[in-house]
Amino acid sequence: MSKQYEAVIGLEVHAEMMTESKMFTGAPVVDSIEAEPNSAVLPLCLGMPGTLPVINKQAVEYAIRVGLALGCEINLYNRFARKNYFYPDLPKSYQISQYEEPIATNGHLDITLADGTSKRIRVRRVHMEEDTGKLTHISANASLVDYNRAGVPLLEIVSEPDIRSAEEAHAYATTLRQILRYLGVNSGDLEKGVLRVEPNISIREPGTDDLNTRTEVKNLNSFSVLFKATEYELMRQAELVNSGGAVVQETRGWNEDEKRTFSQRAKEDAHDYRYFPDPDLPPLMLEQDWVDSIALQLPELPAAKLLRYQQTFGLSLYDAQQLTEELAVAKWFESAVSAGADPKAATNLLINNLFGMMSESGLTIDEMKVSPRGLADLLQIIDAGTINKNIAKTVLAEMFETGNAAAEIVKEKGLAQVSDEGAILAIIQKIVADNPNELAAYRAGKTKLRGFFVGQAMRALRGKGNPKLVNQLLDQELSE
Ligand code: ADP
Ligand code: MG
Repeated sequence: MSKQYEAVIGLEVHAEMMTESKMFTGAPVVDSIEAEPNSAVLPLCLGMPGTLPVINKQAVEYAIRVGLALGCEINLYNRFARKNYFYPDLPKSYQISQYEEPIATNGHLDITLADGTSKRIRVRRVHMEEDTGKLTHISANASLVDYNRAGVPLLEIVSEPDIRSAEEAHAYATTLRQILRYLGVNSGDLEKGVLRVEPNISIREPGTDDLNTRTEVKNLNSFSVLFKATEYELMRQAELVNSGGAVVQETRGWNEDEKRTFSQRAKEDAHDYRYFPDPDLPPLMLEQDWVDSIALQLPELPAAKLLRYQQTFGLSLYDAQQLTEELAVAKWFESAVSAGADPKAATNLLINNLFGMMSESGLTIDEMKVSPRGLADLLQIIDAGTINKNIAKTVLAEMFETGNAAAEIVKEKGLAQVSDEGAILAIIQKIVADNPNELAAYRAGKTKLRGFFVGQAMRALRGKGNPKLVNQLLDQELSE
């Protein structure tokens, strides 16, 4: 009989911080794909003798921001340590990290699952470190190394093993990514490798709190791969144990073609790294006042925003999610509301119309030509009855193309709504007279034909008829 097990998962997330310069030197932080290899490298990045590290204050501030957003205690006394190992991407042969005294500890992250329930995952620690260089293996016996990334400020965020399924792991990772983006600390670009998520996975008998031997899966380049790899690994371990085998502690990779994890190397224990406090760096002593001022400047976080959009603006959960997914979108939306737009009407045009145009053209909300005020002005002329809702879509598309104001487009293209009762009536009377068969059928009870008459009238009015008047006058003519 095959036995069921409980999943025990803890996530380690590495996030490069979007600072100007590196963690311990003034070398710039550059785009890993676009920049010329080894173009952003100073002697310290290469571990040249005689170079000394200096702590990047911006990176410390970002780390504090993240620690606070995750409800951590910020440790005013913290220290950097050397993590020693030999690998060609690490010229110093040690990585400066934090070990015993990390900057933030004991926080939490609340995740929401597909069934609407939420769950709190404890965050064990957040610490600062430096990234390593990047190796490109070009043949069986040759590799290229790019040290642009060596020394880039990195944050490691480690959860407690509170995660119980691949779905929870996925929710934790996406929620954390959203928060990092809100905080302006990380772009969330998994493909560029600036955010890396590594699940530690073990299984146990349900109802126990055993922490059994785990594996760690690395090099997952998307959240869907995180989900698939976690599912696979849980299944592999269960089958292994059920068939009398034992899980070995190791680092595993993901083979996308075969949809399975594979063994990469035996995993080191902490003592293998010979951690010790970095003698080149004094302990970092933070002032509570500084931490407090960073706390005051934290933006409203996604969960709070989501709730406020539902409560204050009366939006549905789905709409609120769409708008708060990215801070730039939320900010744009809030500016439109400040400019007088009705929240619900603005939401509809954004989600149903503008999002599509943006994705088709590849423009972000800040790059596109429609401004928050422009949308508010459009809603205002809809409200005033200058144009109807259908024409508004044409106007919005034109605004997106040209950046012109709604009123200008309406005037230029003659799109103003026809509310002249006499003109509409004349058109309707002609249509009714021209379609005697439909009229007879309608009056005999085929009421579905009403749509036919509305369509004819709107076509004759080139879509610009005041819908209320058209409907009202049509009812009057049809019933006579
Ligand atoms: P290391 O520093 O060697 O990677 P840690 O003990 O700091 O190890 O744990 C790293 C991650 O592994 C944490 O997210 C933690 O929650 C998780 N973890 C620890 N033990 C287990 C286990 N038995 N099963 C699953 N995850 C675990
Ligand atoms: Mg680890």
